[in-house]
Amino acid sequence: MKLPLHGIPEEGLRVNFNHETKELKQSLEQYFPSSTYEGEIELRPAGEHFHLKGHFNSDLKLTCSFCNEPFDYVIDEDFQEILAPVWEKNLKTASNPKEMFESDVELITGLEGEDFYLSEYLKEVVEFALPAHPKCREDCKGLCLTCGSNLNETTCECSKTRQSTSMAFSGLKDLKIDKKH
Ligand SMILES: [Zn+2]
Ligand SMILES: [Zn+2]
Repeated sequence: MKLPLHGIPEEGLRVNFNHETKELKQSLEQYFPSSTYEGEIELRPAGEHFHLKGHFNSDLKLTCSFCNEPFDYVIDEDFQEILAPVWEKNLKTASNPKEMFESDVELITGLEGEDFYLSEYLKEVVEFALPAHPKCREDCKGLCLTCGSNLNETTCECSKTRQSTSMAFSGLKDLKIDKKH
């Protein structure tokens, strides 16, 4: 979805979207194959720049990368940025646009042409919000590396075997230490 920055009125432009918004589907569908999302953004001219504020929300199913079970995950992101289009790249450093706003906003420079690509931007928001290694719960025990059992649900015998093996090794370790002396 392309938003021409020059067409944005003084009072700002507000866009509400959800999983049915056609222009965003192509970019975002891959992340939400079976879940819904919604959000809104507001773009407002601010001197030479544009102030972007928005919200993104989704309840989705992720697969735990430790135990392979699906679980519910919530994305609930607020974001705000300052857009500094390319045509201002010669902007004097003295006029720091960040000073005009709250200190925690990001500054995006190098917008292509004079348009803001909302679909591309939201894709980044989503990628940032998704965990690299989804975990179904803080104390997920994962799968047994030996037999593949889900250790959240069962206990297998492998750990006992491992324990006795490591006990055998600790005996060896003691031997090595003795040798040093
Ligand atoms: Zn898990
Ligand atoms: Zn096992």
